[in-house]
Amino acid sequence: MQKTRYAAAAVAAVAAVAALTLSACGGGETPESGSGGEGGGESLRIGIKFDQPGLGYDEGGSYSGFDVDVAKYVAGELGVTEENIEFVEAPSANRENLLSNNQVDMIFATYSITDTRKETVDFAGPYFVAGQDLLVPTDSDIAGPEDLEGKNLCSVTGSTSAQKIKDQYPGVQLVEQPGYAECVTAMGGGQIDAVTTDDIILAGLAAQEANAGKFKVVGNTFSEENYGVGLPKGSDRCEDINAAITKMIDDGAWEEAITRNTEGADYTFNAELNPPTPAPCA
Ligand code: GLU
Repeated sequence: MQKTRYAAAAVAAVAAVAALTLSACGGGETPESGSGGEGGGESLRIGIKFDQPGLGYDEGGSYSGFDVDVAKYVAGELGVTEENIEFVEAPSANRENLLSNNQVDMIFATYSITDTRKETVDFAGPYFVAGQDLLVPTDSDIAGPEDLEGKNLCSVTGSTSAQKIKDQYPGVQLVEQPGYAECVTAMGGGQIDAVTTDDIILAGLAAQEANAGKFKVVGNTFSEENYGVGLPKGSDRCEDINAAITKMIDDGAWEEAITRNTEGADYTFNAELNPPTPAPCA
């Protein structure tokens, strides 16, 4: 099962690279982004996570999750149909580069809006607010970041989650992986005492069939993560994306999407902070 999924993901990744290479070499033939090709055929390259169930997940060629649903809704409002979206994997550490190097047009990938990131990319949104938390084995008594002194904690390179630990909990043994699924696998093997990132990501991983009964989300958040739509610096799409997010919230599609994508996970979003109001564009 697992093998097949990884194989399919590898094929999809190769196909995506091939497509990128083609469009990079094809000169003017392929419109670079949605602002091109008037009169149909407009396309968007959208960066998402491929390994975060309930948010951005590769089902073997099709993609599911809340980020994917918001991306599809926003693309629709920009006049781009689902068939004309190319989903590209956007691991945490690669997001700024993917945007700066024009390898994607926008990113919906549990991407927190931060001042540091704003130095290199623009953001529309936020469209969701999560909080950093811990995932631990079911029988663990770790109850928060202050219990992690000397423990092995796993997080992901390039994430705000790893950065917060380095900045505020220097006594913790931080192990960095390219994705949270790798962290959870390592915790299953006993090398890791806890995994840290946003609560909604941890809840989705804990709810996977392979992890049933093994782990629990501590439920003691210690940050506010405002998920934005990453855009290349100087993009002119922020206002239109904010209007699309506002419409999605107002017409009930946002609520429907978050409910459907967290079904079966032990997770309730913070109703004081959600749904958020998109911030004015820079
Ligand atoms: N939202 C946090 C971030 O943007 C953590 C989740 C992630 O790595 O995507 O870094």
